[in-house]
Amino acid sequence: MSLKVTLLGTGVGIPQPGRSQPAILVENDHPLLLDCGAGTLMRLDQLGVPIDDLDRVVLTHLHLDHVSDLLALANARYLSELPGLRIFGPSGTDIWWKIIRSVYPNLEKMETSVQELKPMDAVTLAGCDIFAEEAEHSVTALAYRIECQDRILVYSGDTEPSARLAALSQGADLLIHECSFPEPFEVTNHSTPRKLGQVLRNTDVMQILLTHLYPQAQGHEEEMARDVQEITGIPVEVAHDLQMIPL
Ligand SMILES: [Zn+2]
Ligand SMILES: [Zn+2]
Repeated sequence: MSLKVTLLGTGVGIPQPGRSQPAILVENDHPLLLDCGAGTLMRLDQLGVPIDDLDRVVLTHLHLDHVSDLLALANARYLSELPGLRIFGPSGTDIWWKIIRSVYPNLEKMETSVQELKPMDAVTLAGCDIFAEEAEHSVTALAYRIECQDRILVYSGDTEPSARLAALSQGADLLIHECSFPEPFEVTNHSTPRKLGQVLRNTDVMQILLTHLYPQAQGHEEEMARDVQEITGIPVEVAHDLQMIPL
């Protein structure tokens, strides 16, 4: 089976038509979820992907738009009498999960493992080698480079444009990078098209997908992609929910 990447949610914490909250499904020899924001379970159901094998979740950070369906997934697995989750995330994930699950006796009964990752850590999961790197966000956040077979996917999570992430992306077949607002917004902790393009300018990447769009980006999708593409020379698209990319 070849590597398949599906954008389940390309939005943010503020509701908007057509974009649920961040989550990416990576299908190699075993499915893997990157982030699990609100709407993830519904999108999985729309795709016809059962939760049976969805026991591995890699979190970029603990902001609610990236984690809120993790509880729903854990509960759905409990109700379906499936084994508990294996959760990977930045430092703080362990205590966060302990507090959350302590409120729900059914989740307490499940065997859930949490492994915290630091920048430069590597883990092998679902047949993929996953490397963590520090993102530039308002809380501790990681970006991931995922090498499966001979394919490379990089996911930024939430971040300002960062030279570290550009280095992490070298040689990637697909870079899924957040681009929260169009020009001429000035923001911190997130990316905007021109600054992102400048940072990625000399990066050797086959294809860039922009995700994590705020409602303010509505109607500006084409110019956002064009702004990044003009500076980098790399093919760029704005992602949409349920978009599938075979790698
Ligand atoms: Zn976010
Ligand atoms: Zn965030």
